[in-house]
Amino acid sequence: MAARVLDGAAVARQIRSELSPSAASFAKRAGRQPGLGIVLVGDKADSQLYVNSKLRSAGEEGLHAAVSHLPASASLDEIVSLVRRLNADPAIDGVLVQAPLPDRLGPAALQHVFDVIDPEKDVDGVTPMNVGRLVQNRAELVACTPIGIIELLKRSRIEIAGKRAVVIGRSDIVGKPVSLLFLHANATVTMCHSRTEDLSAIAASADILVAALGRAGFVRRPFVKPGAIVVDVGINVVTDVDLAGRMFPEGHPRRAVFERKGSVLVGDVHPEVAEIAGAITPVPGGVGPLTIAMLMANTIKAAELRLRGNTYHGST
Ligand code: NDP
Repeated sequence: MAARVLDGAAVARQIRSELSPSAASFAKRAGRQPGLGIVLVGDKADSQLYVNSKLRSAGEEGLHAAVSHLPASASLDEIVSLVRRLNADPAIDGVLVQAPLPDRLGPAALQHVFDVIDPEKDVDGVTPMNVGRLVQNRAELVACTPIGIIELLKRSRIEIAGKRAVVIGRSDIVGKPVSLLFLHANATVTMCHSRTEDLSAIAASADILVAALGRAGFVRRPFVKPGAIVVDVGINVVTDVDLAGRMFPEGHPRRAVFERKGSVLVGDVHPEVAEIAGAITPVPGGVGPLTIAMLMANTIKAAELRLRGNTYHGST
């Protein structure tokens, strides 16, 4: 039987409709809208696209969002100074640095910039303070994609407590935080990565399988227990005709997209998995829309915490 499709776009719309009144209520009390400052460095087309979606969503929910755009040639010091300016701006409640930064800045640059974000404005949960709080299960601001995955499962009435969750991927932005969230929701969690042995067997033990590795169509039938919940986080643009052919047979509507555009957006999970999974998130339209909705939710939460004069830098 075909898997139930977990419609992330619909759930995100529902969340966003709930956020508008919250943003309006904040604006009434604070005399200004919740403010989101986005730092964009360089001209990567997909980063620009993600930033535009965030701006559009913010506008629709009644938040004020602005992009500070630096050229690809910007130095680390310039990026850090910009983040510091946003930290100090009273009209900004959330600071988001769009990843990735230009390769030329080196592998440590992104975390270096994240470390400068004021934890009370850290709406993607990337600062050491908020990661530490997440480990201790007392975080206010948690990375948007991971918290979006949990929200999607909860709103789809999928039980997490007691279940075996397997997460493929251990990045700071997806794999690790989502594993911690599953743990705090009382799942039994296994985190896998590129050095994991017997990956397919471990994955096939999962009641809830999260694929966050960035490999198009990597998770195939043997990775999935019949009836399992499969969350596909991957966003991959396939331009290779053979790979597109392996993922989508002749006549498949996505194959037609590939033939028309010369590329197709796919997840880390092969479409054949839908034949045995109990439920699955589509790509596009699954986890992605939740990420943006949770960014808006986190910005409003950060705004409220600041308005109340939170104790974020304190001990509790
Ligand atoms: P990273 O590249 O930072 O991490 C990938 C992880 O997958 C690493 O831990 C890596 O292991 C592991 N991995 C890679 N190859 C394999 C393999 N063959 N077998 C097992 N594990 C493997 O990616 P991100 O976490 O940032 O993103 C993952 C995917 O999710 C990407 O496609 C990205 O575009 C997408 N994404 C989607 C979002 C959304 O809103 N929907 C938001 C953020 C990301 P190791 O640590 O050993 O190298």
